Amino acid sequence: MTTITSCPIPAARLRTRVYLLHFVEPYKHARHYLGCADDLSHRLAQHRDGTGARLTKVVRDAGGSWVVARTWRGGRRLEKRLKSRHSGVRLCPICRGEVTLEQVLDSQSPPVGRVPGQRVPMGPGRPMYFRWDPKRH
Ligand SMILES: [Zn+2]
Repeated sequence: MTTITSCPIPAARLRTRVYLLHFVEPYKHARHYLGCADDLSHRLAQHRDGTGARLTKVVRDAGGSWVVARTWRGGRRLEKRLKSRHSGVRLCPICRGEVTLEQVLDSQSPPVGRVPGQRVPMGPGRPMYFRWDPKRH
């Protein structure tokens, strides 16, 4: 499988997170990417740059975009457990109809009152959204 990522550092030692990317345009049979990272924003930047994972690189190269549908606090063990369900759809609030893609994309507008550049701490399970926009690059 090309979607396996390695997280060699024990989750307890870091703020490791498991995250689910939902592809705006399905790529072949792939609609999601599940991974984990001890520095999520850094890993998302890697995905954006095409160095995060093979799957996100091919999606990116095909002009596709994605959003972070969901994150969990946890590491490789949680990632394995979630992957063993073999269903990104059931994990994904967008696919489950709990939130629409439009809402996710709308939520990326900077909220009123937030200081630009200020880091906002993420709670467990709190969605964090990112969209790769090839037109802006
Ligand atoms: Zn989804």
